[in-house]
Amino acid sequence: MEEKLNGIVLGGVSYGDNDKILNIFTLEKGKVSARIKGVKKASAKLKFAAEPFCFAEFVFLVSGDKRTVKTASLIESFYPVREDIVKFFCAATVLEFVKKFFRENITDSEMFVLVLDALKKIAYGNSPKKELLAFLIFALKEVGYALKLDGCFACEKDIEVKPYFDYNVGGFFCENCFMGVGREINIKTYLALKAVSEEKDILEEDATLGLRLIDYYISNKAEEKMVALEELIRQKL
Ligand SMILES: [Zn+2]
Repeated sequence: MEEKLNGIVLGGVSYGDNDKILNIFTLEKGKVSARIKGVKKASAKLKFAAEPFCFAEFVFLVSGDKRTVKTASLIESFYPVREDIVKFFCAATVLEFVKKFFRENITDSEMFVLVLDALKKIAYGNSPKKELLAFLIFALKEVGYALKLDGCFACEKDIEVKPYFDYNVGGFFCENCFMGVGREINIKTYLALKAVSEEKDILEEDATLGLRLIDYYISNKAEEKMVALEELIRQKL
């Protein structure tokens, strides 16, 4: 049986001498795995379809629960992410988030559109970190780890100085309500996250502060290590 799916390649691992098993996030069926044959040979026609970020229309041969790539037509390669290291780590963080937080074979066309949109904005826009931050704030909400950014978690008043962040609740506290759980953060970090959640523009350097907090939040609350995100932060790009 043949099956046609539109998908973005998240990554792949070697299989045998010349094959790879790809992890593909598809519009129609969520995350799926598929074998692609002969792709490690220099002359392989479908080499492009085994690269991370490749968005293509795939035709699979399906046998039982196994898929093999028959053909693929490239729709978008997000080429600029290969030429700019900041864009690369931002886009790689989007893929890593999908790999770590979305379940296999669960269709989520809304998230697919969001991922596609984030990759486009990171590749072709001028604010890759801000676009990544916007993606992560929204995507965290979708997977049950929403950040609460509408004022103090306890008294709901605006926070103007000295916010404290408690990763257990994903919320921020004002100085008066802080009860000793969580840690003090830079007010600029809180304001950057809040502005992006309200779809406002921020500076790329302020986006870095927001990304740093999200990395801290994910590693403590969800206990996942975000390799590409940490590389982006570590390199002070
Ligand atoms: Zn308060």
